[in-house]
Amino acid sequence: MWHMIGQPKAVALLENEVATGQVPHAKLFVGPSGIGKLSLALNLAQALNCNAKETPCGRCSSCQRIMANTYADVQVIKIPETGTSREQREPKTKIGTRQIEDMQKLASTPPYEGKYKVFIIDGAEQFSAEAANHLLKTLEEPPPRVVIILLTAKEKEVLPTLISRCQRLELYPLPIDKTKEILVKQHNIQPQRAGLLASLSRGCIGWALSAVSDDKLLQKRTQAIETFTELTHSNRERLLAYAGQLAREFTKNRMTVDAVLSLWLGWWRDLLLIKGNRKTLITNIDQETILLRQAESYTTKQIGDYIRSIQTARRQLRQNANARLVLEVLMLNLPTARTPVKSQNGY
Ligand SMILES: [Zn+2]
Repeated sequence: MWHMIGQPKAVALLENEVATGQVPHAKLFVGPSGIGKLSLALNLAQALNCNAKETPCGRCSSCQRIMANTYADVQVIKIPETGTSREQREPKTKIGTRQIEDMQKLASTPPYEGKYKVFIIDGAEQFSAEAANHLLKTLEEPPPRVVIILLTAKEKEVLPTLISRCQRLELYPLPIDKTKEILVKQHNIQPQRAGLLASLSRGCIGWALSAVSDDKLLQKRTQAIETFTELTHSNRERLLAYAGQLAREFTKNRMTVDAVLSLWLGWWRDLLLIKGNRKTLITNIDQETILLRQAESYTTKQIGDYIRSIQTARRQLRQNANARLVLEVLMLNLPTARTPVKSQNGY
């Protein structure tokens, strides 16, 4: 049984391919983070290697080991954790040539225990140029019984030459009320909390469920929102100090900083929605009072400009620009609020 919530089209397509033995050797799963791309790829790997009558059964040894990442014929490849890359020539922010070469070596031999070798590459937008070239060769002349699944939340940043060699499959967010319903009915979440999680997840059930099991996710969000509110009426020194703090964090874990900027972008988008009299569409529904007050402090143009500043900063950070410089510019671009805004926490 496929364990995907709310992706009936994608599942039906893959089921049919597995049943008819017509699985393309290269696939690209596209969709926002937390939507379930990795789960679907692992599900497909199970379906390809499960021996039950109805695959994937989820119970047999193959299915269980694939989910636990201990099955010899299924590998998940992603950017190495900081400090573990063996390649000095390439930044550790990329999937490197060595990783692709290792994959090619494995792909050139028949499956050890299963029917297919499946390589799942998480972050198709993150290849070094050389690694992408190596991968292209494999995609052009795929070894038999090998399926390569690329995953991306940022399709615009994936090389067109890679996209053109893959069968593309898009995963769509669920409607917010459907997400809430699943959280309430299937996971016993109290309705008000479910409503907030559904809204913050923007219909990515995987994100909502990880927030259910990890309280820190929501705590971090609350802290970030308190900081944003404070910064809107802070002086230059404080803004630069915060930029420095983020830049130091960036050298340790760039994903944390990207997550903060993503939250911030969501916040400013909410302000823009309020300006456009569309407050029913805001994401941060539990912060409506503060958002309404802040929206009064800025013009629509200031909000639009700052949204573009955040987008530019995120792009530059992904392109390895000087993090401190990028973040300082972002902080100093913060528009001045017309009246001081006080948050519920007394800032
Ligand atoms: Zn099975």
